[in-house]
Amino acid sequence: MQLSRPATPAGDRDGSRSVLTVTDYTGEVHPEAVYQALLDHDVFALPVCGQCGRAHYSPRVLCPHCGSTSLSWQQSAGLGTVYSTSTISPRNAEPYAVVLVDLDEGPRLMSNVVGIPAGEVQIGLRVRARIVQREDGAVAMFEEDRA
Ligand SMILES: [Zn+2]
Repeated sequence: MQLSRPATPAGDRDGSRSVLTVTDYTGEVHPEAVYQALLDHDVFALPVCGQCGRAHYSPRVLCPHCGSTSLSWQQSAGLGTVYSTSTISPRNAEPYAVVLVDLDEGPRLMSNVVGIPAGEVQIGLRVRARIVQREDGAVAMFEEDRA
């Protein structure tokens, strides 16, 4: 698998947040593996359909909205709204929040909200993705969007 960035537009020398494409998106590499590889490169990206224009999650080989295989990866803004929240209280650890987040791009995904007490995570809270690198692979978590 090869990850590549499109040519940087003139005048935009940063380019680090620009859209990423996976050049050999053939289905031979499972989309979940591509998603994970991007996360491991500190990029939170979603598959976006070239036919209907909608993003989806979890990553699939076909667009779940229209069935197209014309998918590309686009970096998510990472902004979303908490749809539901549950507090998990382990016996010997701090409680943490397990949430469903509705991303502004459309998909809903399960994750955690970190950085504030679990009890303060409420439905409707605006959140922002934060990639957390772990030994077993990077994960996208969320923190309160205070912007
Ligand atoms: Zn589609």
